[in-house]
Amino acid sequence: MRTIVVNVEQRNVRIAQRQEPRRPRGTEVLLRPIEVGICGTDREIFAFEHGAPPPGSSELVLGHEALAEIVEVGPDVAWARPGRLVVPMVRRPCPNPRCAACRAGRPEYCATGEFSERGIVHADGFMSEYVLEDERYLVPVPAVLEDVAVVVEPLSVVAKAAEEFAAIHARFGFDIPRPRGLVLGAGPVGLLAAMTLRADDIDTYVFSREAEDSPRAELIRSLEATYISAAHTPLERLPERIGAVDDVFEAVGVAEVAFGALPTLAANGVIVMSGIPAERGPVPADLSRWMRDLVLKNQVLLGTVNASRSAFESAVHRLEQFMVLFPDAVRSLIVRSPFEQAPDVLMRGRGIKDVIVIGRG
Ligand code: BGC
Repeated sequence: MRTIVVNVEQRNVRIAQRQEPRRPRGTEVLLRPIEVGICGTDREIFAFEHGAPPPGSSELVLGHEALAEIVEVGPDVAWARPGRLVVPMVRRPCPNPRCAACRAGRPEYCATGEFSERGIVHADGFMSEYVLEDERYLVPVPAVLEDVAVVVEPLSVVAKAAEEFAAIHARFGFDIPRPRGLVLGAGPVGLLAAMTLRADDIDTYVFSREAEDSPRAELIRSLEATYISAAHTPLERLPERIGAVDDVFEAVGVAEVAFGALPTLAANGVIVMSGIPAERGPVPADLSRWMRDLVLKNQVLLGTVNASRSAFESAVHRLEQFMVLFPDAVRSLIVRSPFEQAPDVLMRGRGIKDVIVIGRG
Protein backbone atom coordinates (compact mmCIF):
# COMPACT_ATOMS: atom_id res chain seq x y z
CA MET A 1 0.00 0.00 0.00
CA ARG A 2 1.05 3.61 -0.55
CA THR A 3 2.04 5.96 2.29
CA ILE A 4 3.56 9.43 2.59
CA VAL A 5 6.72 9.23 4.68
CA VAL A 6 9.29 11.62 6.04
CA ASN A 7 12.77 10.14 6.20
CA VAL A 8 14.70 11.97 8.92
CA GLU A 9 18.10 10.56 7.91
CA GLN A 10 17.79 11.26 4.19
CA ARG A 11 15.81 14.43 4.91
CA ASN A 12 13.15 13.84 2.31
CA VAL A 13 9.40 13.33 1.98
CA ARG A 14 8.15 10.77 -0.53
CA ILE A 15 5.48 8.28 -1.46
CA ALA A 16 6.62 4.90 -0.09
CA GLN A 17 5.26 1.37 -0.34
CA ARG A 18 4.51 -0.32 2.97
CA GLN A 19 3.08 -3.70 3.88
CA GLU A 20 -0.70 -3.63 4.51
CA PRO A 21 -1.60 -4.02 8.21
CA ARG A 22 -2.62 -7.47 9.48
CA ARG A 23 -6.29 -8.20 10.26
CA PRO A 24 -7.64 -6.53 13.44
CA ARG A 25 -7.55 -8.45 16.73
CA GLY A 26 -9.37 -7.78 20.03
CA THR A 27 -10.68 -4.20 20.01
CA GLU A 28 -8.61 -3.20 16.96
CA VAL A 29 -10.18 -1.72 13.86
CA LEU A 30 -8.86 -1.62 10.29
CA LEU A 31 -9.34 1.85 8.80
CA ARG A 32 -9.25 3.16 5.27
CA PRO A 33 -8.36 6.86 5.54
CA ILE A 34 -10.59 8.85 3.17
CA GLU A 35 -8.74 12.12 3.44
CA VAL A 36 -6.12 13.72 5.65
CA GLY A 37 -5.55 17.42 6.34
CA ILE A 38 -2.20 19.18 6.43
CA CYS A 39 -1.36 21.79 9.07
CA GLY A 40 1.55 23.85 10.35
CA THR A 41 2.72 20.91 12.46
CA ASP A 42 3.10 18.73 9.31
CA ARG A 43 5.07 21.51 7.66
CA GLU A 44 7.35 21.70 10.73
CA ILE A 45 7.90 17.92 10.52
CA PHE A 46 8.56 18.33 6.80
CA ALA A 47 11.15 21.02 7.66
CA PHE A 48 12.67 18.63 10.29
CA GLU A 49 11.92 21.09 13.13
CA HIS A 50 9.40 18.93 15.04
CA GLY A 51 8.35 15.31 15.38
CA ALA A 52 10.13 11.96 15.47
CA PRO A 53 9.69 8.55 13.79
CA PRO A 54 8.58 5.48 15.73
CA PRO A 55 11.39 4.01 17.88
CA GLY A 56 13.84 2.00 15.77
CA SER A 57 12.74 3.58 12.47
CA SER A 58 14.13 6.48 10.47
CA GLU A 59 10.79 7.05 8.74
CA LEU A 60 7.53 8.55 9.96
CA VAL A 61 4.23 8.18 8.10
CA LEU A 62 2.72 11.68 8.13
CA GLY A 63 -0.85 12.76 8.83
CA HIS A 64 -2.80 13.37 12.05
CA GLU A 65 -5.97 15.12 10.77
CA ALA A 66 -7.82 12.14 9.33
CA LEU A 67 -11.30 11.15 8.31
CA ALA A 68 -11.50 7.38 7.81
CA GLU A 69 -13.94 4.60 7.06
CA ILE A 70 -13.97 1.41 9.12
CA VAL A 71 -13.34 -1.61 6.88
CA GLU A 72 -12.94 -4.46 9.38
CA VAL A 73 -13.30 -4.84 13.16
CA GLY A 74 -11.73 -7.12 15.77
CA PRO A 75 -13.96 -9.62 17.62
CA ASP A 76 -14.12 -7.56 20.85
CA VAL A 77 -15.17 -4.10 19.60
CA ALA A 78 -18.10 -2.40 21.31
CA TRP A 79 -19.57 -0.03 18.71
CA ALA A 80 -17.27 0.02 15.67
CA ARG A 81 -18.87 -1.42 12.50
CA PRO A 82 -17.62 -1.63 8.90
CA GLY A 83 -18.80 1.35 6.84
CA ARG A 84 -18.91 3.82 9.74
CA LEU A 85 -16.97 7.07 9.47
CA VAL A 86 -14.54 7.98 12.23
CA VAL A 87 -11.95 10.57 13.15
CA PRO A 88 -8.98 9.14 15.07
CA MET A 89 -7.64 11.01 18.08
CA VAL A 90 -3.97 12.03 17.86
CA ARG A 91 -2.22 11.51 21.19
CA ARG A 92 -1.58 8.18 22.94
CA PRO A 93 -0.81 7.98 26.67
CA CYS A 94 2.76 7.67 27.96
CA PRO A 95 3.71 4.39 29.68
CA ASN A 96 5.00 6.07 32.86
CA PRO A 97 3.12 4.75 35.94
CA ARG A 98 3.71 8.11 37.68
CA CYS A 99 1.89 10.15 35.01
CA ALA A 100 -1.45 10.83 36.71
CA ALA A 101 -2.89 12.42 33.54
CA CYS A 102 -2.12 9.49 31.23
CA ARG A 103 -3.17 6.97 33.87
CA ALA A 104 -6.50 8.80 34.10
CA GLY A 105 -6.93 8.57 30.30
CA ARG A 106 -6.16 12.28 29.79
CA PRO A 107 -2.95 12.23 27.69
CA GLU A 108 -3.69 15.78 26.47
CA TYR A 109 -2.35 16.77 29.91
CA CYS A 110 0.58 14.27 29.85
CA ALA A 111 3.13 15.45 32.41
CA THR A 112 6.15 13.41 31.33
CA GLY A 113 6.34 14.33 27.65
CA GLU A 114 6.76 10.60 26.90
CA PHE A 115 3.43 10.44 25.02
CA SER A 116 3.26 9.56 21.35
CA GLU A 117 1.17 11.33 18.69
CA ARG A 118 0.13 9.60 15.49
CA GLY A 119 1.79 11.22 12.49
CA ILE A 120 3.85 13.52 14.72
CA VAL A 121 5.89 11.91 17.51
CA HIS A 122 6.96 8.25 17.75
CA ALA A 123 3.90 6.81 15.97
CA ASP A 124 3.01 6.54 12.28
CA GLY A 125 0.18 8.70 11.00
CA PHE A 126 -2.76 8.31 8.65
CA MET A 127 -1.42 9.25 5.19
CA SER A 128 -1.66 5.63 4.23
CA GLU A 129 -4.16 3.46 2.36
CA TYR A 130 -4.88 1.35 5.46
CA VAL A 131 -4.26 1.87 9.17
CA LEU A 132 -4.80 -0.29 12.25
CA GLU A 133 -6.13 1.49 15.33
CA ASP A 134 -7.75 0.61 18.63
CA GLU A 135 -11.45 1.42 18.83
CA ARG A 136 -10.91 3.44 21.99
CA TYR A 137 -9.08 6.16 20.02
CA LEU A 138 -11.79 6.57 17.38
CA VAL A 139 -14.54 9.20 17.42
CA PRO A 140 -17.65 8.36 15.35
CA VAL A 141 -18.79 10.94 12.80
CA PRO A 142 -22.25 11.09 11.19
CA ALA A 143 -22.22 10.34 7.44
CA VAL A 144 -23.83 13.73 6.68
CA LEU A 145 -20.58 15.39 7.73
CA GLU A 146 -18.40 13.34 5.34
CA ASP A 147 -17.67 16.38 3.16
CA VAL A 148 -16.22 18.48 5.96
CA ALA A 149 -15.31 16.08 8.81
CA VAL A 150 -11.62 16.34 7.94
CA VAL A 151 -11.64 19.56 10.01
CA VAL A 152 -12.79 17.75 13.17
CA GLU A 153 -9.20 17.34 14.44
CA PRO A 154 -8.20 21.04 14.17
CA LEU A 155 -11.64 21.95 15.52
CA SER A 156 -11.00 19.65 18.50
CA VAL A 157 -8.05 21.89 19.44
CA VAL A 158 -10.46 24.86 19.47
CA ALA A 159 -13.05 22.80 21.37
CA LYS A 160 -10.48 22.00 24.06
CA ALA A 161 -9.74 25.73 24.37
CA ALA A 162 -13.50 26.39 24.64
CA GLU A 163 -13.65 23.86 27.50
CA GLU A 164 -10.78 25.69 29.21
CA PHE A 165 -12.49 29.11 28.82
CA ALA A 166 -15.69 27.68 30.24
CA ALA A 167 -13.92 26.06 33.20
CA ILE A 168 -12.08 29.31 34.02
CA HIS A 169 -15.20 31.47 33.73
CA ALA A 170 -17.15 28.99 35.87
CA ARG A 171 -15.13 30.09 38.92
CA PHE A 172 -16.93 33.47 38.92
CA GLY A 173 -20.35 32.07 39.71
CA PHE A 174 -21.89 34.80 37.50
CA ASP A 175 -22.19 35.31 33.74
CA ILE A 176 -20.38 38.03 31.80
CA PRO A 177 -23.29 40.07 30.34
CA ARG A 178 -22.22 40.43 26.67
CA PRO A 179 -18.92 38.62 26.28
CA ARG A 180 -16.55 39.80 23.55
CA GLY A 181 -13.98 37.54 21.91
CA LEU A 182 -10.80 38.22 19.94
CA VAL A 183 -9.07 35.65 17.73
CA LEU A 184 -5.45 36.23 16.78
CA GLY A 185 -4.70 34.72 13.37
CA ALA A 186 -6.87 33.79 10.38
CA GLY A 187 -5.39 30.36 9.61
CA PRO A 188 -7.64 27.27 9.78
CA VAL A 189 -7.57 27.10 13.59
CA GLY A 190 -8.23 30.86 13.93
CA LEU A 191 -11.14 30.68 11.48
CA LEU A 192 -12.62 27.63 13.26
CA ALA A 193 -12.27 29.55 16.53
CA ALA A 194 -14.11 32.53 15.01
CA MET A 195 -16.90 30.16 13.88
CA THR A 196 -17.06 28.69 17.40
CA LEU A 197 -17.41 32.13 18.99
CA ARG A 198 -20.03 33.25 16.45
CA ALA A 199 -22.00 30.02 16.89
CA ASP A 200 -22.11 30.89 20.60
CA ASP A 201 -23.36 34.38 19.63
CA ILE A 202 -20.28 36.12 20.98
CA ASP A 203 -19.23 39.51 19.57
CA THR A 204 -16.16 38.39 17.62
CA TYR A 205 -13.06 40.18 16.32
CA VAL A 206 -10.31 38.53 14.27
CA PHE A 207 -6.89 40.18 14.02
CA SER A 208 -4.49 38.95 11.35
CA ARG A 209 -1.98 40.08 8.73
CA GLU A 210 -4.15 39.60 5.60
CA ALA A 211 -5.51 42.75 3.92
CA GLU A 212 -8.99 44.07 4.78
CA ASP A 213 -10.21 43.11 1.29
CA SER A 214 -8.66 39.61 1.29
CA PRO A 215 -10.83 36.49 0.83
CA ARG A 216 -10.18 35.49 4.46
CA ALA A 217 -11.42 38.89 5.64
CA GLU A 218 -14.56 38.38 3.52
CA LEU A 219 -15.04 34.92 5.03
CA ILE A 220 -14.79 36.39 8.53
CA ARG A 221 -17.31 39.12 7.71
CA SER A 222 -19.66 36.43 6.34
CA LEU A 223 -19.72 35.01 9.91
CA GLU A 224 -20.81 38.47 11.11
CA ALA A 225 -17.49 38.86 12.87
CA THR A 226 -15.25 41.96 12.54
CA TYR A 227 -11.95 41.57 10.72
CA ILE A 228 -9.01 43.77 11.67
CA SER A 229 -5.97 43.75 9.43
CA ALA A 230 -2.58 44.32 11.03
CA ALA A 231 -1.71 46.32 7.90
CA HIS A 232 -4.45 48.80 8.78
CA THR A 233 -4.52 48.70 12.59
CA PRO A 234 -1.23 47.89 14.32
CA LEU A 235 -1.54 45.76 17.43
CA GLU A 236 -0.81 48.71 19.76
CA ARG A 237 -3.92 50.45 18.45
CA LEU A 238 -6.19 47.45 18.94
CA PRO A 239 -7.52 48.54 22.39
CA GLU A 240 -8.60 51.96 21.06
CA ARG A 241 -10.17 50.35 17.95
CA ILE A 242 -12.16 47.54 19.59
CA GLY A 243 -12.13 48.20 23.35
CA ALA A 244 -11.63 45.49 25.97
CA VAL A 245 -12.31 41.82 25.17
CA ASP A 246 -13.09 39.02 27.62
CA ASP A 247 -11.66 36.01 25.75
CA VAL A 248 -8.61 36.00 23.50
CA PHE A 249 -7.79 32.88 21.49
CA GLU A 250 -4.29 32.97 20.05
CA ALA A 251 -3.67 30.98 16.85
CA VAL A 252 -0.68 32.66 15.20
CA GLY A 253 2.30 31.18 17.01
CA VAL A 254 4.08 34.54 17.17
CA ALA A 255 5.00 35.69 20.68
CA GLU A 256 4.91 39.42 19.87
CA VAL A 257 1.31 39.10 18.65
CA ALA A 258 0.20 36.79 21.47
CA PHE A 259 1.56 38.96 24.29
CA GLY A 260 0.99 42.17 22.34
CA ALA A 261 -2.75 41.53 22.66
CA LEU A 262 -2.63 41.63 26.48
CA PRO A 263 -3.50 45.38 26.71
CA THR A 264 -6.79 44.53 24.92
CA LEU A 265 -7.79 42.03 27.60
CA ALA A 266 -10.62 43.09 29.96
CA ALA A 267 -10.57 42.67 33.73
CA ASN A 268 -11.20 38.95 34.51
CA GLY A 269 -10.22 38.23 30.89
CA VAL A 270 -8.66 35.00 29.70
CA ILE A 271 -6.11 34.56 26.94
CA VAL A 272 -5.59 31.02 25.66
CA MET A 273 -2.52 30.41 23.52
CA SER A 274 -2.44 27.53 21.03
CA GLY A 275 0.25 28.51 18.51
CA ILE A 276 3.75 27.06 18.84
CA PRO A 277 6.39 29.68 17.99
CA ALA A 278 9.73 28.76 16.47
CA GLU A 279 12.62 29.31 18.90
CA ARG A 280 14.41 32.45 17.82
CA GLY A 281 15.94 34.06 20.87
CA PRO A 282 14.65 36.62 23.41
CA VAL A 283 12.00 39.19 22.53
CA PRO A 284 12.08 42.52 24.48
CA ALA A 285 8.97 42.87 26.64
CA ASP A 286 7.45 45.08 29.34
CA LEU A 287 7.07 42.23 31.84
CA SER A 288 6.22 44.49 34.82
CA ARG A 289 3.26 45.94 32.92
CA TRP A 290 1.98 42.47 32.02
CA MET A 291 2.38 41.27 35.59
CA ARG A 292 0.59 44.35 37.00
CA ASP A 293 -2.30 43.76 34.61
CA LEU A 294 -2.52 40.04 35.31
CA VAL A 295 -2.61 40.62 39.07
CA LEU A 296 -4.72 43.77 39.28
CA LYS A 297 -7.28 42.51 36.73
CA ASN A 298 -7.48 38.82 37.75
CA GLN A 299 -6.44 37.86 34.24
CA VAL A 300 -5.56 34.33 33.14
CA LEU A 301 -2.92 33.38 30.58
CA LEU A 302 -3.16 29.74 29.60
CA GLY A 303 -1.53 27.42 27.07
CA THR A 304 -3.37 24.55 25.42
CA VAL A 305 -2.28 21.64 23.26
CA ASN A 306 -3.97 18.58 21.79
CA ALA A 307 -7.53 17.52 22.66
CA SER A 308 -9.49 15.06 24.78
CA ARG A 309 -12.20 12.68 23.62
CA SER A 310 -14.82 15.11 24.93
CA ALA A 311 -13.23 17.89 22.84
CA PHE A 312 -13.35 15.68 19.70
CA GLU A 313 -17.01 14.87 20.41
CA SER A 314 -17.80 18.50 20.97
CA ALA A 315 -15.97 19.32 17.70
CA VAL A 316 -18.31 16.92 15.86
CA HIS A 317 -21.36 18.63 17.41
CA ARG A 318 -20.03 22.09 16.68
CA LEU A 319 -19.35 21.13 13.07
CA GLU A 320 -22.97 19.97 12.71
CA GLN A 321 -24.02 23.38 14.07
CA PHE A 322 -21.64 25.24 11.69
CA MET A 323 -23.13 23.34 8.74
CA VAL A 324 -26.52 24.82 9.64
CA LEU A 325 -25.25 28.33 10.38
CA PHE A 326 -22.51 28.91 7.78
CA PRO A 327 -22.01 25.86 5.52
CA ASP A 328 -20.37 27.82 2.68
CA ALA A 329 -17.77 29.29 5.03
CA VAL A 330 -16.86 25.80 6.31
CA ARG A 331 -16.64 24.35 2.79
CA SER A 332 -14.52 27.27 1.59
CA LEU A 333 -11.76 26.32 4.05
CA ILE A 334 -11.01 23.02 2.30
CA VAL A 335 -8.88 22.60 -0.83
CA ARG A 336 -8.37 18.97 -1.88
CA SER A 337 -5.35 17.56 -3.72
CA PRO A 338 -4.64 14.01 -4.93
CA PHE A 339 -2.36 11.64 -3.02
CA GLU A 340 0.57 11.97 -5.47
CA GLN A 341 0.71 15.72 -4.86
CA ALA A 342 1.11 15.48 -1.06
CA PRO A 343 4.89 16.24 -1.05
CA ASP A 344 4.27 19.33 -3.21
CA VAL A 345 1.31 20.52 -1.12
CA LEU A 346 3.46 20.21 2.00
CA MET A 347 5.99 22.51 0.36
CA ARG A 348 3.55 24.99 -1.19
CA GLY A 349 0.19 25.41 0.51
CA ARG A 350 -2.79 25.85 -1.82
CA GLY A 351 -5.82 26.61 0.33
CA ILE A 352 -6.74 27.58 3.88
CA LYS A 353 -6.96 23.91 4.85
CA ASP A 354 -5.08 21.66 2.43
CA VAL A 355 -6.46 18.14 2.35
CA ILE A 356 -4.94 15.07 0.70
CA VAL A 357 -7.48 12.68 -0.77
CA ILE A 358 -6.50 9.08 -0.09
CA GLY A 359 -9.39 6.65 -0.29
CA ARG A 360 -11.96 8.52 -2.35
CA GLY A 361 -12.22 8.63 -6.15
C1 BGC B 1 -2.00 18.71 16.77
C2 BGC B 1 -2.05 18.26 18.21
C3 BGC B 1 -0.64 18.03 18.75
C4 BGC B 1 0.22 19.26 18.49
C5 BGC B 1 1.66 19.12 19.00
C6 BGC B 1 -1.04 19.86 16.60
O1 BGC B 1 -0.94 20.16 15.24
O2 BGC B 1 -3.28 19.10 16.36
O3 BGC B 1 -2.79 17.07 18.31
O4 BGC B 1 -0.71 17.74 20.12
O5 BGC B 1 0.24 19.54 17.11
O6 BGC B 1 2.38 18.07 18.41
